[in-house]
Amino acid sequence: MKTTLNHSTHDVIISGAGPVGLFLACELALAKCSVLILEKVENPYSPLKQFPFGIRGLSTPTIEALYRRDLLKGLELHKRIKNPHQNTKQESQRQGGHFAGIPFHSDNIDTSKWKNRLPGSTETSLISEMQELETLLTHRAELLGVEIRRGHAITDFHQTADEVTVQSGDQSFKCKWLVGCDGSRSVVRKAGGFEFAGTEPEFTGYSTQVDIDDPEKLNPGRNVTSTGMYLQSQPGYLIMQDFDAGTFHNSEKPLTCEHIQAVLRRISNTNVTINTLHIGTTWTDRARQATTYRNGRIFLAGDAAHIHAPLGGQGLNLGLGDAMNLGWKLAATIQNRASESLLDSYYIERYPIGAQVLDWSRAQVEIMKPTPQAQALNAIIRDLMNTRDGATYFAGRVWGIDTHYNLGSNLPLVGHSVPNFELEDGTRIGELMYDGKGMLLDFDGDASLKKTVSEYDDRIRYVCGNTIDRLATSALLIRPDGIIAWTSDSNPDYCELQNAITRWFDFTQ
Ligand SMILES: Cc1cc2nc3c(=O)[nH]c(=O)nc-3n(C[C@H](O)[C@H](O)[C@H](O)COP(=O)(O)OP(=O)(O)OC[C@H]3O[C@@H](n4cnc5c(N)ncnc54)[C@H](O)[C@@H]3O)c2cc1C
Repeated sequence: MKTTLNHSTHDVIISGAGPVGLFLACELALAKCSVLILEKVENPYSPLKQFPFGIRGLSTPTIEALYRRDLLKGLELHKRIKNPHQNTKQESQRQGGHFAGIPFHSDNIDTSKWKNRLPGSTETSLISEMQELETLLTHRAELLGVEIRRGHAITDFHQTADEVTVQSGDQSFKCKWLVGCDGSRSVVRKAGGFEFAGTEPEFTGYSTQVDIDDPEKLNPGRNVTSTGMYLQSQPGYLIMQDFDAGTFHNSEKPLTCEHIQAVLRRISNTNVTINTLHIGTTWTDRARQATTYRNGRIFLAGDAAHIHAPLGGQGLNLGLGDAMNLGWKLAATIQNRASESLLDSYYIERYPIGAQVLDWSRAQVEIMKPTPQAQALNAIIRDLMNTRDGATYFAGRVWGIDTHYNLGSNLPLVGHSVPNFELEDGTRIGELMYDGKGMLLDFDGDASLKKTVSEYDDRIRYVCGNTIDRLATSALLIRPDGIIAWTSDSNPDYCELQNAITRWFDFTQ
C-alpha cells in the first residue's frame, strides 16, 4: 500500500475525539501546543450519545474542571431535564446517587463534614449527555486551533527517541507525542504493548430502546431481582444486567428482539412481550487497567487506560480527570520546561484514582449478584446507606469529593482541589483559572511571596486579596489543574515555596 505522508509535525496527536480526547486537546491548545485529533468515526452524532442512553452523571472534580476552564456554563441540559434515574417523589427524598442500585438521599447527607467546600462552590453533581459534552468540547477545541480529522482511524504507529509516526490507513502523520484516548478497545494501547490487567466480567449489560406490548407487567424504576437488574427509565428505554459472565457480550452475536425479550422475561420473572427493537448495545463489568500509562512518547488516558462497569457512572469523570492532569504537564514538556519526573507524576497521581474506581465498581457488582450471600450483604449496605454517616460517605465517594493526590507533603490541603475562595471584590478563585496558568494566592499581601513568583509570571498568576474564609491558610500555590501544591500559615516558609515552584513550574533548575 502506498502511504501519503503529511509533512507537518504536530506537538501532539490524540487518537479519538471522545470527551477525554477533546478535553485533553483543549488543555494542550490552551497552552499553545499544536494538536491533531484523529477520530475513527465520520459522524460525531449517535442516538447512544443522546438522552436517555447518553446521559452521564458528572462528579465534583469534573464540574470543577469545566468551571475552571469557563466551560460549565455551556452545559444546559441539566436545567431542562431531571436525572431519569432519580426518584423525585418528594424533594426531601431526592436521590443523590446510588451504590449497586441502592439510593442515598440528599437530605441525609451531612455536608458540614466537607470543610473545603465553601459557600459558592460548584455543584457536587449534575447530569449531562455525551452529545452535549462532546459538542461543547469540539467547539472549544476548534476555537483554540485544534485540527480534528474524522473518519481517520489510527491503525498503527512507530516511535523513535524524537518523534512518533502515526498510521491511519494509507496516510501517515508525525508528532512529538501520541496520546491514546481511543476508548476501551484502544488501538494505541494494543499497538503500544501496554499490559491491561484486571478481572473478567460477571454480567452482560444491555441499553435498549424497544416497543413493549404489555409494559404494565414491568415495575417502574430500578429493579434488582434474583437473576439480575432491569430499569425502565421511560417507556421503552430499558437497561438490564444479566449475570451470564459476559458471555453474550463476548460472543459478539447480533442483538435481536427475541434475545432481549428472553433476557427481560428471565430477569423480571414476567411473560412481557417485546415486538420491536429500535436501538440496542451491550457492555460488561470487565475491570481492567493499564499497568503503566506511558511508554516512551505514548500516553494513555480515559477508557483506553481503564475500563469497568458503568455502575454509579464514573468512567467519564475518571477520564476527564486524566486529561486535566496530563494536559499541562505534557504542554510544559513540549515547551522544554519539564523534567521526566513531571511526566511521571501523571501515572503516579492518576493510577491510584483509577484503581479506586475499579474497586468501587467491583464492590457494587459483588453485592448485585443473584445469590443469597450477595443479597444478605446488599441488605446490610442498604441499612448503612440509610444512616447519616453512611449517606455522607457514599455521596463523598460517588461525587468524588474526597478525591485528592498524595503529593508527599504534610502541609494542610496539599494535593486537594483548591476551595472556591471568594475574594473581597466578589471574584471567585475558579474564575481566575480560565487561561490554565498556575496561581499564588496571597491573602496577606506578603511582598516576599510576590517577589518569589514574579520571575514566573508567564506561568504563575500572583493574586492578592482577602477572603471571608481562608481555611487557616495565608497563602496557597495552585497548579494549573486546580490542585494545591503548597500552603502556608501566617509564617510562610519561602524555601518550601521555592521547592514547590521548582517541582511543578520551573523544571530547568
Ligand atoms: C451504559 C453506560 C453508562 C455510563 N454512564 C456513565 C456516567 O454516568 N458517568 C461517567 O462518568 N461515565 C459513564 N459511563 C462511561 C463513559 O461513557 C466512558 O468512560 C467515557 O465515554 C470514556 O470516554 P473516552 O473519551 O475515554 O472514550 P470514548 O467515549 O469511548 O471515546 C473514544 C473515541 O475514540 C474513537 N476511536 C476508537 N478507536 C479509534 C482509532 N483506532 N482511531 C481513532 N479514533 C478511535 C471512538 O470512535 C470514540 O470517538 C457510562 C458507560 C456506559 C456504557
